[in-house]
Amino acid sequence: MIRLVLLGGPGSGKGTQADVLKKKYALVKLSTGDLLRQEIAKNSELGKQAKSFMNKGELVSDAIMIGILEHITADFEAKGQGYILDGFPRTVPQAEALLSMLGKQGVTLSTALLIDVPEEELVRRLSSRWTCVRCSATVGYPDGKPEGAVCAQCGGELYQREDDKRETILNRMSVYKKNTEPLIAYFREKKMLERVDGFGTFEEISGRILDLFAKKNIR
Ligand code: AMP
Repeated sequence: MIRLVLLGGPGSGKGTQADVLKKKYALVKLSTGDLLRQEIAKNSELGKQAKSFMNKGELVSDAIMIGILEHITADFEAKGQGYILDGFPRTVPQAEALLSMLGKQGVTLSTALLIDVPEEELVRRLSSRWTCVRCSATVGYPDGKPEGAVCAQCGGELYQREDDKRETILNRMSVYKKNTEPLIAYFREKKMLERVDGFGTFEEISGRILDLFAKKNIR
């Protein structure tokens, strides 16, 4: 059973590449960002707590996130359902909690896959990124969104995430560097890290990832 962590800066294409792996290996994708956005849309207690942090590009607390993940991973394990974590862990304490919860479940992570993209490219991509209201697919419009453009996957309306606006992007990048980048060294030390070059077209990058999985016999 595959248990995968995807690492990469905001805008690295983690979510989109997770969708490729999800189809290929019959996995479920758990995007903690999508999960929190759904809670905000429902105006739940969790959504209310998360909203102000998210809109500023700050992280939601480790305690809240770890609590959510503990239930969800146990549930996947009980069902024998392989999974991809997109957006979790985001801090070293979250990574420690993840490895400890997997340990308690008697299993280990298949790999932590880093999609490596230079920072200037991330900022460029995020500031041109539009997201589908319905299916969360994203599309980049570096020269501005054309009038009337809709989601190519499902025809849903496109919007610019509050945290994809310019001022927030810079804050998200610094939050990423401070809190999440250290995870690269963390997983490397544990010999759990794999890296692919995240510069190129969507197809080039998914090709690299699928080749790596075949080579490392991850399935
Ligand atoms: P994302 O869609 O992964 O870019 O996440 C959007 C926002 O959700 C982040 O900027 C955080 O505010 C929040 N978030 C998502 N996952 C986590 C996490 N694992 N820990 C803390 N905050 C998170």
